[in-house]
This record gives sequence, C-alpha cells and structure tokens, in this order.
Amino acid sequence: MNLLERELQYPLGDTLPAAGATLELAPGVRWIRMALPFALDHINLWLLRDRLDGRDGWTVVDCCISRDESRAQWEEVFATQLQGLPILRVIVTHMHPDHIGLASWLCERWSTPEHECRLWISATDYNAARLASQSTTAFGGEGAANFFASHGLVDPEAIEKIRGRANYYPNLVPALPPRYRRMQDGDVVSIGGHGWRCISGFGHAPEHISLYCEALKVLISGDMMLPRISTNVSVYEIEPEANALALFLASIDKFRGLPPDTLVLPSHGKPFRGLHARIRQLHEHHRDRLAEVMEACQARPCSAADVLPVLFKRKLDLHQTTFAMGESVAHLHALWHGGQLRRGKDAEGVWRFAVT
Ligand SMILES: [Zn+2]
Repeated sequence: MNLLERELQYPLGDTLPAAGATLELAPGVRWIRMALPFALDHINLWLLRDRLDGRDGWTVVDCCISRDESRAQWEEVFATQLQGLPILRVIVTHMHPDHIGLASWLCERWSTPEHECRLWISATDYNAARLASQSTTAFGGEGAANFFASHGLVDPEAIEKIRGRANYYPNLVPALPPRYRRMQDGDVVSIGGHGWRCISGFGHAPEHISLYCEALKVLISGDMMLPRISTNVSVYEIEPEANALALFLASIDKFRGLPPDTLVLPSHGKPFRGLHARIRQLHEHHRDRLAEVMEACQARPCSAADVLPVLFKRKLDLHQTTFAMGESVAHLHALWHGGQLRRGKDAEGVWRFAVT
C-alpha cells in the first residue's frame, strides 16, 4: 500500500469476492469481480436488489467484455447468487468495452415476451457505443494511427499495430441492445426502494454516469473515481482538440458535495471511504504531471510522444502506449487551452507544444 492509499479506508480489507460469487457491501448491494485479459486485470460489477414493474429481481451495473470466460462467470452468478430471481435491467456507466461488452447478451438473456430487460445508459454513450461497435475506426485503425503519428509516435511497429487494430472495439463489443433508456445528470433512478441520483462525468468517456444513493451513502463511481490508479483521461482522433483533462477535473469536483463517509464503489480496485481525500489526491497528481510537462516544454518544444517518458516512468506495451499517448495529448491540451503552451506543426507534420 502506497502513501496515498493510507489516506483511504477499505472496509473489507483485502477480501475480494470469489469468481462467480458476490459480496454484500450494503443492504441489497452486492459486489462481483470479473477477470480482464489486459494489464488492468479485473473489473468490478454491481448487483442491486430491485423490484421493477411488480417483479422482484436484480439490477446489474456494468457487464464486462464479450468473451466466453465472462459469460461463464455470469452463468455461475445467475445459478448461485440471484436467489432464484431474474435480472430486471442493465445499467451501464459508460461505453468502454469492459463496461458495456456483454450488455446485449445480458439484455437478451433476461428479456421475456412480457418484459424487456432494458439497458439504461446516457444517450451520448449509447450512440457512441453503437457507432463504435459497427465501425473500424474506433480506438484503432487508420484514423487513430494518423492521429498518434501527428503527435509524434514514429515507431513504425507501433503505428502498424494500431492501424491493424481496427476491430478492437467490435471484438469486445460485438452488439448493442437495439433499444435503451436514457440516464441524464440529476435523474433519480429508483432501485430497490431507494433513489439513486445520476451524476454525469466527462473527460474519460463521452458522458459517464455515476450513481449516488443518499439513503445508503453509497456512490457507484464507475471509472470516474478509482482508489489506486488515476482514471485514463485521453484525447482521441474523433475530437482532436478536446480538453479532456479540464473536463475530468471539473467532473470529479461534482463529488465534493457528497458526505465524507460515502462508501465509493469503483470499477477497478476495492470499495473505499475517503472520497474527499481521493479528489484532492487526483487534483495534486495532475497538477504535478502538468508541472513536469511544462518543464519539459520549457527546455524545448515537445510533442506528445516526447512527454511520454515524463508522464510514464515505466516501460509500456502497445495497449498501454495508446492509452498513454492519449493521456499525453490530454495534458498538453490542458496547458494549451489554458494559455500556457502554444502549438504548431513542425516540418514533419508533428504537433509541438512550446511555452507562450
Ligand atoms: Zn472506462
């Protein structure tokens, strides 16, 4: 446990739910943990006891990626954890594959002729996910390769791999439910007799929705508030001038109004208390990174690829390099939009950022 984590409290200590099992965190709120085949090797999903349209059952929050291992783990949950009750609806915090991958499968699996098991999600993320699942340009492919090249990624092997990853999103999210129910900032969703307020967040996904239950003092934070790692905040080719970091930092400030003893249920890592300390830590983390990027750009005009070793002190694999490049652009853009850096294209067509 590092110094920052000492400021947080983990009420369950090191206890994790076993594969295919759940752990109760608050009345009617259960934790599922599923494996992911990435550097980030797991995701947390939530099972909420519910009653909808006169039927008792469960609402699930987030789904895991589409693959046989995840479906098998869900089947074990269905067989052993639902007390014989059905899944009534599927809430998805945002469009990333580990959260929405199996939404279509879950909704189909639990729909009956009388009751459709509905996907609840923000309109922005629903539409972005539908497009990405049908396209060959999301998070990979020609456009992404050109975007990273314009930010200084010159390693031909990396560029070739990104170009070849055109089916990255559709592989992990092969389909989306054809219909959905929209969630918006400020909406209160009634789940199991309690109100859960939707809190929108930006900078990580197009329109991420976290859910806060005042009666239980529980925040399902999704990826907007993680205990150990900082949320990925990236600029992508589809919105090449985005100021994602400013959006993210403004979004986490929306959690400041929640009680200090709120139990935070993050999508990665362990449930924790210490929300306000964590908000402060994340601001400090990005403030320090921005200072380092400024320092590098003071020495010479830098591209996003130039500041990768400034921001990431470890060796990165390809999956991590694409995330890291997006983060690097996000930090440069925060300083550019803030007026501290200006940008221009060099003779090779690479964006370089210099002190104003
Ligand atoms: Zn995410």
